Amino acid sequence: MRKRTLIAGLGITAVAALALTGCNSGTPSATPDASEGGAADVWFTVADPKPAVEGSDTVAAITERGTVKVGVKEDQPNLGYLDPTTGERSGFDIDVARWVAASLGYDEADIDFQVIDSANREQAIINGDIDYYVGTYSITDKRKEQISFAGPYFVTGQGLLVAADDDTITGVDALTADSIVCSVTGSTSIERIKTETPAGTVELSKYSECVEQLKNGQVDAVTTDQAILIGYAAQDPDNLKVVGDPFSEERYGIGVQKGDTAFVEFINTTLTDGPDIWTAIFDKNLGPAGVTGTQPAVDAAE
Ligand code: GLU
Repeated sequence: MRKRTLIAGLGITAVAALALTGCNSGTPSATPDASEGGAADVWFTVADPKPAVEGSDTVAAITERGTVKVGVKEDQPNLGYLDPTTGERSGFDIDVARWVAASLGYDEADIDFQVIDSANREQAIINGDIDYYVGTYSITDKRKEQISFAGPYFVTGQGLLVAADDDTITGVDALTADSIVCSVTGSTSIERIKTETPAGTVELSKYSECVEQLKNGQVDAVTTDQAILIGYAAQDPDNLKVVGDPFSEERYGIGVQKGDTAFVEFINTTLTDGPDIWTAIFDKNLGPAGVTGTQPAVDAAE
């Protein structure tokens, strides 16, 4: 018997596309279910029986525990977000996390989401506090010294968020030594803004804290990946706008224990083998805010 887990809010086109693709045994798939809130709802298929992932210490630990511990963000609209009023988690990264869990045979109720800021990701993975991390996590050589990555599952680039009425900061080249730009400790964004521009910086733990400082006039801009910034601007278009072209390439990976190649390969197969869940969850979460993109090819497991 197959259990299903809800992906709410999918558009009808994506639903129809998924319905045509069918499903493979052991691979998460999605089928429309008009009885659950109409045509806008789609479900991941939770693998049953749970697949064996030979040689993966992480999956062995998950099997013994019976739950999946996933590191995420919760203050990044459309990517990793927790609605404070409904308690619902949403976003592209959250759905990728659910997709991987479903492919391992675990339902929403079996997922233990843990919020981990950018600066603490590698250590959380090393400590085994989480089984995997899905949260705007760029694949970098430096991080690969400590952990391994599945993916990439998305590619974006660094950008700038400014006040809607700001006519001076039009892009990265307009930053001067008088500009104050906020970003997050442990991110690729803070490193690049420090090394490649003359701007002064403010470093905080979360991008939402930077956005607050921008709205209060304490900083002139927030910098991180455009996909993240577009989410904040879409929430508050009267006060915020994204400016300029992206000035880096950020390839989002799923962080796992270093050297768990079997798990990396399993996740990569999930991402690429089967019905087009990627497009469905992209269209649901990122498309409406104007983010564009296609699914990238995954890297070979290292
Ligand atoms: N993708 C960049 C990084 O991994 C910035 C976003 C973030 O901090 O999560 O550092």
